[in-house]
Amino acid sequence: MRELREAIREHQFELYYQPQLDVDGVLVGAEALVRWNHPERGVVSPIEFIPLAEQNGLILGLGHEVLELGLEQLKKWQQVPHYRSLKLSINLVPEQFYEDGFAKSLEALLTEREIDPKLLMLEFTESTLLDNLELARFNMQQLSEIGVHFAIDDFGTGYSSLTYLSQLPLDMLKIDQSFVRNIGVNVKDAAIVRTIIDMAYTLDMSVLAEGVETEAQRKFLLGHGCTLYQGYLFGRPVPVDRFEAAWAVSAVKSV
Ligand code: C2E
Ligand code: CA
Ligand code: CA
Repeated sequence: MRELREAIREHQFELYYQPQLDVDGVLVGAEALVRWNHPERGVVSPIEFIPLAEQNGLILGLGHEVLELGLEQLKKWQQVPHYRSLKLSINLVPEQFYEDGFAKSLEALLTEREIDPKLLMLEFTESTLLDNLELARFNMQQLSEIGVHFAIDDFGTGYSSLTYLSQLPLDMLKIDQSFVRNIGVNVKDAAIVRTIIDMAYTLDMSVLAEGVETEAQRKFLLGHGCTLYQGYLFGRPVPVDRFEAAWAVSAVKSV
């Protein structure tokens, strides 16, 4: 816990970036995924340290660091013609989303740094939304007015209340990787995938499948109208220099 506090103070966190592609395999976005470069243990997974940070009251500090690093990268990409229209997805924990003045301070940060809010996609889970639906609505409305986008992460694993889906300015559903993994294995999970895609269409939202690892999964998703893809089949999360090296010659398109 002392180590984690030091890590925040000493900026031992780094964002890795994972590509998001459209149906033609064109790069349209990236998801920022945090890693801890531990001085002795090497790269530590967020699955290990995020729960620790949550238990020890350090999650807000970590969340601020992630947002800071993400916005810094977004600003850089916005200035490079090749990456100018690349969208960046950043994950938020509930503590961060419900912090006093969250929407106002994020808006101020974007204005101050001249970052196009339309390039920013904030991801959170359904349970984050349902913690405080009223405040969620308030924050989302304020931010969506300036152009910030919102995605529901791990969609299908939570509450999936259709009421909230139609009442909030949501832009994207991210199909949880547990369903994608079972395409071709479990007919019920494949049916859930189809239902989520249809639901996104009905609600006028985009839909992204995460954890796409095989060509068979991609084909199934494509056949059922999924428009966006993320997973090891296209690229793992990597540090920014490797991300840029991998996508240097590919087309980047805005959606
Ligand atoms: P997530 O937001 O659902 O992120 C997707 C996770 O799936 C990432 O794990 C990614 O590396 C992994 N993944 C991507 N494609 C594939 C695939 O094809 N196959 C498999 N098996 N896995 C794939 P990662 O980076 O370890 O992150 C785990 C979780 O930690 C994230 O799940 C998210 O909930 C949380 N997290 C990561 N970075 C951040 C962050 O910056 N802020 C917050 N609040 N949470 C974060
Ligand atoms: Ca995510
Ligand atoms: Ca997810």
